[in-house]
Amino acid sequence: MPPPTPPGASPAAAAAAVLEGVVRPLRFAVKDDFAGLARLKGFGKLLGDAVARARAAGAPDSAALRRLAAEADGFEALPLEGRKRALSTIAAALAALVPVPAEVQAVARAGRIETRAPAPVAPSPAAGAAAPRPSSPVWEKDHGERPGVLAKPDQPFAPLPEPADPKERAARRRSLSATLESLKFHQATRGNLEERGRRTVADALEFWPRAYQDRTQVRRVADLAPGDEGIVHLTVRGSRTQRMRNGRPLLEVTAADASGALKLVFFNPPTWRLKQFAAGDVLLAWGKVTEGFGGRKQMSQPEVEKVQAGDSASFGRIVPIYPGPADHQHPALRRMMKRLVDEFAPALVDDLPPELRARRGLPGRGLAVKEAHFPSPGTDLLAAAARATPGFRRLAYEELFFLQLALGLRRQGVRAEAGIAFEAGPEALGRATARLPFELTRAQRRVLGEIAKDMGRREPMNRLLQGDVGSGKTAVAFAAMMLAVQSGWQAALMVPTEILAEQHARTLARWLEGTGVQIALVGASARGKGQKEARAAVADGRARIAVGTHALLEDVVGFEKLGLVVVDEQHRFGVLQRARLISKGRRPDVLVMTATPIPRTLALAFYGDLDQSKIDELPPGRTPVETRLFPDSQRRMALEVARKELAAGRQVYVVYPLVEESEKSDLADATSGAEALRRAFPGVEVGLLHGRMKADEKQAVMDRFRAGQTRLLVATTVIEVGVDVPNASVMIVEHAERFGLSQLHQLRGRVGRGAAKSFCLLVAKKAGQEARERLKAMERTQDGFEIARVDLQIRGHGELLGTRQSGQPILDVADLYRDEAILEEAREDAFGLLEADPRLEAPGHRAAREAVETRWRERLSLAQVG
Ligand code: ADP
Ligand code: MG
Repeated sequence: MPPPTPPGASPAAAAAAVLEGVVRPLRFAVKDDFAGLARLKGFGKLLGDAVARARAAGAPDSAALRRLAAEADGFEALPLEGRKRALSTIAAALAALVPVPAEVQAVARAGRIETRAPAPVAPSPAAGAAAPRPSSPVWEKDHGERPGVLAKPDQPFAPLPEPADPKERAARRRSLSATLESLKFHQATRGNLEERGRRTVADALEFWPRAYQDRTQVRRVADLAPGDEGIVHLTVRGSRTQRMRNGRPLLEVTAADASGALKLVFFNPPTWRLKQFAAGDVLLAWGKVTEGFGGRKQMSQPEVEKVQAGDSASFGRIVPIYPGPADHQHPALRRMMKRLVDEFAPALVDDLPPELRARRGLPGRGLAVKEAHFPSPGTDLLAAAARATPGFRRLAYEELFFLQLALGLRRQGVRAEAGIAFEAGPEALGRATARLPFELTRAQRRVLGEIAKDMGRREPMNRLLQGDVGSGKTAVAFAAMMLAVQSGWQAALMVPTEILAEQHARTLARWLEGTGVQIALVGASARGKGQKEARAAVADGRARIAVGTHALLEDVVGFEKLGLVVVDEQHRFGVLQRARLISKGRRPDVLVMTATPIPRTLALAFYGDLDQSKIDELPPGRTPVETRLFPDSQRRMALEVARKELAAGRQVYVVYPLVEESEKSDLADATSGAEALRRAFPGVEVGLLHGRMKADEKQAVMDRFRAGQTRLLVATTVIEVGVDVPNASVMIVEHAERFGLSQLHQLRGRVGRGAAKSFCLLVAKKAGQEARERLKAMERTQDGFEIARVDLQIRGHGELLGTRQSGQPILDVADLYRDEAILEEAREDAFGLLEADPRLEAPGHRAAREAVETRWRERLSLAQVG
């Protein structure tokens, strides 16, 4: 007869007393690597009875109790190995309910891991209703319900309440700016992050894993074949250190589980490792099994951790793999991240307004960050690696939301300013376009109509004009500038390069002939004599139109009466540079033009504050450019095409990539390329244009090419943007595999501008999959929008935005290709919020305002778009 339940005790205590009765036989069975198991009789029944009595005594239903019941049922029928595994599970479940001794804990550790196997144990009928695993989103899971946790389980994630007091919020935000160094993390560990410019807790928390590994299951040594990866639960038998031939130490640890022996091998381990293992140590090891001498199984350079109480960052859970660090650095890195997440994630301020979080069903920021690093059991690993889990979706939403909020605030600011109402009726428009030497296309007329409408209003114009390469944006800009000039204002045209400035000035001057309207070319360097004169003419109003690079933004250039600013090839400027221009003097109208076709999502995300127009038609008489791909070995065939075209009197571009890190060698490429071409085409003048030349040198080279004296122009990418030489019919791109799609499309746009059939010849070294896809897309289509979409899909927005080098990218988690729907929601929410509370003054919105003013402002100012 089992002892009666002590009367008077509380139900929980009574139930515990009953369960404690199971501990002794269990301990007997598992001790010394299950030495007593063979002699254990009737344990299944004993356990089943204990559970039944514990329930009768009022034990609350729990996963651990259900697990015990399930294991009891059928225990006796198991083969020996099966019983061992079952005992681990039982130990784990029992440990969650009552105190257990060390031997049981050690087994429970393995059991804890095993009980979290993805395939749930079938509930036995006798055990009653074992609830199925909830399929609800990760953050709704009841973390306290996990069975069998001996070592301290992860606490259920408990974020601190959102502080209502701005001071407390500020203090919490400040705590994140503590450096990893100040928190005394080992240099070698934090170095992994510091190398990437991440020095603070905040930076570290946003160091997202690149992948995850499921380390929730322990395998038996016997079940691991060479080549398999997995976790084993081992007892150390001994270790020895040898010298390798090169004199470095080699540590061999012999260890085994009940099913077999396994050797752990460490090459050239650090000193502490040499002394890490002693016979009898129980440890978990993760690694790949190989076959050592005599067919014995071994694991080289495994990750190991001694089994002990406490929570592991690398075992018994889904573990993060971070980008960069070597495998052996991961355990320490994970420990650091675990500590940071445990300590700081609960205190993260959630900047999103609570009502939006509720509406979109988003988890809090703290939980999202925690889940990103240490996903809850049951998380879909592929979804996590693809950043598609609910936590990551929240982070993506957050990025897009704040981007939209910033744009919305800016739009609001612009609207509130007083703008200029230009004379822009049909008659004025007629005069403005009268000087153009061609009929505008229908698309040009349409967008010009949209622009004129804006300009006629008192509200400042803030418009984005998109048009594929060669669609004729310059003519539209010219007409808009003429509207401003006719109304008595000045206009400025801002372009990214001096060559382009010079070219535009030339074009505009030609169109202005006979009107008496003076144009000034403002260079980047203020030194030249002509420069002084140009600036003076802009300042006193003699020049009505100014063309220049970013020098136009500099304060030294004053305008007499600036009414319109046109920014050409906007993608070359930072997003917020627009703002700088806008804040200059009285509020002029702004027309932003981009030739990089922007996929809808990108336009929405980064130009969401602008009204948009699109030129979707090319001027008549264009012949499509024939695009061909040549492997490096067939360069001669590309040159053959060039030879024919040169013979027909046309001109040729040859473009080399320019990568910053290796600027020198690239320059050498271009220089030697030019030499080779001179030899290949004797009698043909070959010019060389590169980024290191002075402005006037570049100008001279360009002038000769434009005039047709230089027939073949070798250049680094400086000609990418906007150069217009209609007689050029061949574009050869060297190392085409190193260019992005949009860049290639831009380059191709340099030819096919005249009536002659043109060629774009891409010469590529052996290219990877991605590069091949890109180059194939070039052969396939000439539609810039299609190309941009493919580019976005292949490379993500980071490349298109040019933010890769500037540390944290503006969109880190969000993927504009994938997250279009989230973007729509974020936009709707951000603009809606501003409509309801334009200054974000409601208490629930203040955190959002603070975030825009600090964290996000910084990030946005780094972004370049296009
Ligand atoms: P982009 O949009 O790439 O800046 P440009 O403004 O440089 O294109 O125009 C490309 C070429 O097409 C220029 O040579 C320009 O003179 C010519 N062009 C522009 N509009 C027309 C038109 N409506 N009819 C004929 N040619 C045009
Ligand atoms: Mg242009």
